Amino acid sequence: MIKKSNLLFIVIPALIFSYILYMIIVDSLPLACTNGFRIISRKEWNANNPLDTSGVYYYKDDLKVVLKYIVIHHSGFRENIGVKNIQSYQQSCGYNDIAYHFIIDRYGKIYEGRKINTLGAHAGETAEANNMAQRFSKHIDKHLTATSLPEPYKLDPDYGAIGICLEGNFEIERPTRCQLSNLKQLVLYLMQKYNIEKDNIMLHKEVRKRLILKRNLHPIKEETHCPGKYGAAEIKHLINTI
Ligand SMILES: [Zn+2]
Repeated sequence: MIKKSNLLFIVIPALIFSYILYMIIVDSLPLACTNGFRIISRKEWNANNPLDTSGVYYYKDDLKVVLKYIVIHHSGFRENIGVKNIQSYQQSCGYNDIAYHFIIDRYGKIYEGRKINTLGAHAGETAEANNMAQRFSKHIDKHLTATSLPEPYKLDPDYGAIGICLEGNFEIERPTRCQLSNLKQLVLYLMQKYNIEKDNIMLHKEVRKRLILKRNLHPIKEETHCPGKYGAAEIKHLINTI
């Protein structure tokens, strides 16, 4: 006869072992990638409107001149939480809209984020851009409208930077094969369409050095590890193959 307490010593480890085995099997199953290059529009994924439509900054110059950089991120949320949830979360944090221009989920599906002809909110902020924006907003227009604020945004690392976010927390998990192959397709498409140089494709964590300190500007936010240690290594490798 096995004692009840002894039984617990067998059942609990067995349950834990089964769970770990299950996770290993699920993780190792090949993901069914979304094949073919297609961008799922905001309308298709039922995006919310920007919270303040008058606060959307539309680029005024030709996009081939303005768009010079591609900045790559991870979402920081484990696995797929969905583009709609990312947008709702960011809007609840005070962002006007989803921060990025494109989002790629774990299956490699590519979603349209902010409109490509509008300023993103993913690369970071500088003291100089914020100060100037405040001065403008006090004296010219309380809303940061497209017409009233042409200059301050040029001191912002987001100016001319297309933001691409891959779903996942790449500190603890790897980008999927599907994400990486469709990221490459998306990057190649953007490079060709807007004449972006390979050298100007960077990880979020490289922005501070390259688009802020190098311009003698002062960053507002702390240093970031985005897109996580696995993301940084694998995405950097991918960029090198372009
Ligand atoms: Zn990031």
